[in-house]
Amino acid sequence: MKMAEGGNEIYLDHAGTTLYPKSLVEKFAADMTSNLFGNPHSASSSSQTSTSRIEDVRLRVLQFFHADPSEFDLVFVANATAGIKLVADAFRGHERGFSYLYHQASHTSLVGVREETPHSLCLDDAAVHNWLGGKDPTTELGQHAGPVLFAYPAQSNMDGRRLTLDWSHGIRKCQSASDRPIFTLLDAAAFVSTSPLDLSNSETAPDFTVLSFYKIFGFPDLGGLIVRRQAASIFASRKYFGGGTVDMVVCVREQWHAPKSQALHESLEDGTLPVHSIIALDSALDVHCQLFTSMRDVANHTSFLSRRLHDGLATLRHSNNKPVCVLYSQPACTSGNGPVIAFNLQSHLGGWVSLAEFEKLAVLKRFHIRTGGLCNPGGIASSLSLEPWEMKRNFSSGFRCGAENDIIGGKPTGVIRVSLGAISTISDVDKFIEFIAEFYRAADIPGSVSSIPLQAAQDQPNLYVKSITVFPIKSCGGFCVPAGATWEVREEGLAWDREWCLVHRGTGQALSQKRYPRMALIRPVIDFTKGHLRVSYLGSSKNGESELYIPLSANPSLFQTTAASKPMASRVCGEEISAQIYTSSKVNNYFSDILDVPCMLARFPPGGLGNRMRHAKAHLQKHQKVNKTHYKVPYRFPGMNTPPDSDSESERQRILLSNESPILAINLSSLEILNRQIVSHGGRPVSPEAFRANIVIASLGADSQSFAYSEDHWSSLKIGQQDFKMLGSCRRCHMVCIDQETAKKSEEPFVTLAKTRRFDGKVFFGTHMCHIPSQRTDTKEAQFPTITVGDEVLVDPV
Ligand SMILES: *Cc1c(COP(=O)(O)O)cnc(C)c1O
Repeated sequence: MKMAEGGNEIYLDHAGTTLYPKSLVEKFAADMTSNLFGNPHSASSSSQTSTSRIEDVRLRVLQFFHADPSEFDLVFVANATAGIKLVADAFRGHERGFSYLYHQASHTSLVGVREETPHSLCLDDAAVHNWLGGKDPTTELGQHAGPVLFAYPAQSNMDGRRLTLDWSHGIRKCQSASDRPIFTLLDAAAFVSTSPLDLSNSETAPDFTVLSFYKIFGFPDLGGLIVRRQAASIFASRKYFGGGTVDMVVCVREQWHAPKSQALHESLEDGTLPVHSIIALDSALDVHCQLFTSMRDVANHTSFLSRRLHDGLATLRHSNNKPVCVLYSQPACTSGNGPVIAFNLQSHLGGWVSLAEFEKLAVLKRFHIRTGGLCNPGGIASSLSLEPWEMKRNFSSGFRCGAENDIIGGKPTGVIRVSLGAISTISDVDKFIEFIAEFYRAADIPGSVSSIPLQAAQDQPNLYVKSITVFPIKSCGGFCVPAGATWEVREEGLAWDREWCLVHRGTGQALSQKRYPRMALIRPVIDFTKGHLRVSYLGSSKNGESELYIPLSANPSLFQTTAASKPMASRVCGEEISAQIYTSSKVNNYFSDILDVPCMLARFPPGGLGNRMRHAKAHLQKHQKVNKTHYKVPYRFPGMNTPPDSDSESERQRILLSNESPILAINLSSLEILNRQIVSHGGRPVSPEAFRANIVIASLGADSQSFAYSEDHWSSLKIGQQDFKMLGSCRRCHMVCIDQETAKKSEEPFVTLAKTRRFDGKVFFGTHMCHIPSQRTDTKEAQFPTITVGDEVLVDPV
């Protein structure tokens, strides 16, 4: 089996989907190319081939679960969720309504069924046990006479916990107070991926079992609903009928239809079956058996690995003996637990590690894992002790699935989930444990807050501006301001910085190098003499167009008019902006061809849009404030304007399309230290361009090492004649790992930064700043503030 890229990937998201073996894809391809499969249910031979294959596969799948076809029927659906909805459809249609009870470990797709009835209840273990012991929870739901549906997962997709299959039988046997029939729905989607499911006893089997085949075989993307025939009558209540499920339909003058009555699946499989996916199951079953022999073997293999992973993580300790991982999963051997480990990371001081930050590093180290709420609201709430009011507070304070800010009120909002599958190896598990130990165990983290390499600078270093760069098109290459040129600084940043951006044609989302690394090779040059932005591409483009010229003047005829079509709302970092979109297909195709994504060029009006302006998000970080006392103020320059000092004021700093603040600066001395650390571990030094700073500050002569990371403690700067306020350190992501010359991604510098420059779980390098306009109005510098390469830089420390 081969992984798509390079083979260095470590795939630990089998609960998301397991991987599709190469031999399966090949076998399926051979099957497809040597047979002719038509739309089933007609007389042609291609149609007949499909029909008979589908019926064979249906039987094979039932046999895979030891389900006797005279007791069970299999309905093909898109995925487990579609199976759940089909069951919900039937109950919703029941003339007396229905009561719905679901276990708290349920997947979101099971939880959602509750919206189909006013009578629903979420049960924990105790409530289920009480029910089995005779305490009927449906009495809480008020008087009504419809059937009862009890749903639960065979295995939690969040922490791998396995719930006993006996409940299906036990609960069904519980007579409800008013003799209402009770049905059981088992969500086996997570369970069957690494466990045998045995339905050989139809008396004890659940009435409805749903699953997704891609979770077992990796392919095809298909689901199944296994119905116990004794429960089939409930589907008579289903109202909707789709093509293929009826024998006759009368529309004109009278409305009448006759559902197909021979086989249950015929009346439930709406529309054309996913013929080729079903046929692929044949190959999937063959290959799975060849590679792994049986589900029993898969189960043994994965529980062994899962125990090793669990124990490895559980025994990791910080140097002060505090655990590194807080685990929510049980080891596979003791209780029934699938090969899924859910946990969070804690610092040696007990602080939680942000999931978003963890993912950045995991991605660079090529681990494929999942973090967050994992579609399991009840499981997350109980593992993390989140009360409903806390979850609602988090939601109303802006938290969304996948948000950056994922520690709220001192609690994590999700978990890290590692899940194993049939192809997982000891090496996968050990590498993951080593990764956690290397980056999250305190003994191995040299750069904790107390050891910022920071000494009081003895001599005033001669700081100067080494280079000035603007990025006319957001996320594309930079334009180096030539030596000697004066460059205007504005409240919202350097002139011409991030004035343009590329937006996706479909979503309006601004494109970023993170997803499209080749953007680094798109090089805009500002040519004031010719009055245009000259764009070239360093790689080879599909259409071979080498250069593009975009007028610097914002001639309205270049843009889509508001009247003709409502301009699409564009988004930068999730914020809505209204940029002007270029109409020229030559312009838009130039970028689309290079990046191989349908996109358009957009321009942000200079100076912004009044109230619709975007504002800086940068602010001082905690690590920047801690060392105040031991940093002596070595130099303070006269005549400096007092910078605005309230946080709120700095947060209202206007920006154009840059991510966080008007101007980003880096200190070359810090980069030298960083590069020394990278080289000492055998890595290659990174160039300043990787950080995409506007201003690179270097020191002349002075011992640069003693000056490294002093920018953490600057409060303001004077560059030439201009004053700047520092807005806080720049939080980094793995975008710094894209080589701006080759657009290739590597691990550095993020991996070393994560070890040396991580504060509060976040990684920082460089500093945000903004220009402070002069109070005076009568000088040239005040009226047209500029900076120049080579300008002297004076620092005012915090
Ligand atoms: C994956 C999963 C689902 C959803 O499966 P789909 O294929 O997305 O419909 C439901 N329940 C559990 C337990 C799962 O693991």
